[in-house]
Amino acid sequence: MTEVHDEQSAELTVSLCKDLSIALARFPKVRLGHLPTPLEPMDRLSEALGGPRLWVKRDDCTGLSSGGNKTRKLEYLMADAQAQGADTIITQGATQSNHARQTAAAAAKLGMTCHILLEDRTGSNDPSYILNGNVLMDRLHGATVSKRAGGTDMNAEMQRLAEELLSNGHTPYVIPGGGSNPIGALGYVNCARELAEQAANIGLKIDGLVHATGSSGTQAGLVTGLAAIRSNIQLLGIGVRAPQDKQEQMVYDLAQHTADYLGTGLQIDRAAVRANCDYVGPGYGMPTEGMKRAVKLLAQTEGLLFDPVYSGKGLDGLIDLTRKGHFGHMENVVFLHTGGSAALFGYPDTFDLPGYTD
Ligand SMILES: *Cc1c(COP(=O)(O)O)cnc(C)c1O
Repeated sequence: MTEVHDEQSAELTVSLCKDLSIALARFPKVRLGHLPTPLEPMDRLSEALGGPRLWVKRDDCTGLSSGGNKTRKLEYLMADAQAQGADTIITQGATQSNHARQTAAAAAKLGMTCHILLEDRTGSNDPSYILNGNVLMDRLHGATVSKRAGGTDMNAEMQRLAEELLSNGHTPYVIPGGGSNPIGALGYVNCARELAEQAANIGLKIDGLVHATGSSGTQAGLVTGLAAIRSNIQLLGIGVRAPQDKQEQMVYDLAQHTADYLGTGLQIDRAAVRANCDYVGPGYGMPTEGMKRAVKLLAQTEGLLFDPVYSGKGLDGLIDLTRKGHFGHMENVVFLHTGGSAALFGYPDTFDLPGYTD
């Protein structure tokens, strides 16, 4: 299956992965996740779509409070919070934020207080949406949860809360929405290394990597990590909120900042940053027909759960682009499953499912 030059490049990849591990080891990290996450084939989906062989990288299995992509970022962010002597974590997200839920769990595990500010981006008053799913879990983990209107300057709100806590004798640490800054993105620099080593170990040549992109830390980390190991994997983010030019610029800026923070002199190639934002639909967190079909298809062909806001729209993009032949020249395409199935319980009526049969 592999030719001589591929074997050599696999060896080079493994050696560059080792160098990257060394560069990453200089940053404090707390263990929160079950890593490495599995890499599994999706054979029934591949057969149903008739394109390249499709694989799934199971970052929905990172373990912390039902898993998801924020856990890798939090391993670096929470270690930084501890290094700074923080006793209280502040973060923000949309109502059904998976980031907020994983942050609440991480704070609980490390014995810190957690305050979550939730921005109402959808205007929904459905009790499931505002109280169940991730919101239920935020509260179970002991975080305080407060609501802000859509369009609020959430960074200013977090800053205001931090000052208040500081004047009351606490030591707060603010984590930006999605955990997306150079510290958090290191989690996905490390994921790029992990995936490349996993593929090398089973003799798999990955041609494409696809995932849902939002606050941009996941993609920025992957772009940086793949650049560091000089990977040929073509990375594609499927947008869930912003238009393409804005999304790509956000990812590019954060990737370059992450590369600078990593401190190895790496330059990010703008052409390595690619996002397709055609699957957002009416807006962030608003269901689309394609998302619904994609979530049901994966639940029924692979037994996998995806979410309505992120991974379901990412999948819609993967499936539609596969059907259109976008990956026609590729043999193996990996979908990075960023998690989020807890949000399904915030959207119970979205999927038009049949009731009980007699
Ligand atoms: C946050 C999130 C994403 C997007 O990751 P970013 O780093 O914010 O771009 C994708 N999928 C799920 C399930 C998420 O919770």
